[in-house]
Amino acid sequence: MASTTARAARNQGSNWIRRTKRQAIYAADGFLCVYCGVSVSQGDRRGVASVSGTQLATLDHVVSIERGGDNSTENLLTSCLSCNASKGDSRLGAWLAQSNTRLLIIAAAIANA
Ligand SMILES: [Zn+2]
Repeated sequence: MASTTARAARNQGSNWIRRTKRQAIYAADGFLCVYCGVSVSQGDRRGVASVSGTQLATLDHVVSIERGGDNSTENLLTSCLSCNASKGDSRLGAWLAQSNTRLLIIAAAIANA
């Protein structure tokens, strides 16, 4: 199995999405990883988070390209590199079910409200 970390890092540095579109998605998500809530910032030329104390921002395909997802804004969410690498090509629901993420915590809170 190919390294999902390496693939995520490659995606981060590639030009598959316009810079302005990428930035708009990060801004819409408040420069927070939607899965774990950590603060993120865009990578510098070396692919390192450009703001001290933040994680490297990536765009996660909610439905992976391998599963038929596309590069539309609706299919892209701000994710830290570690969540993106952890999710890999998994279905979102399956990954969340085995992950201790903020989304799961929120879902539990809503269910119990
Ligand atoms: Zn994260």
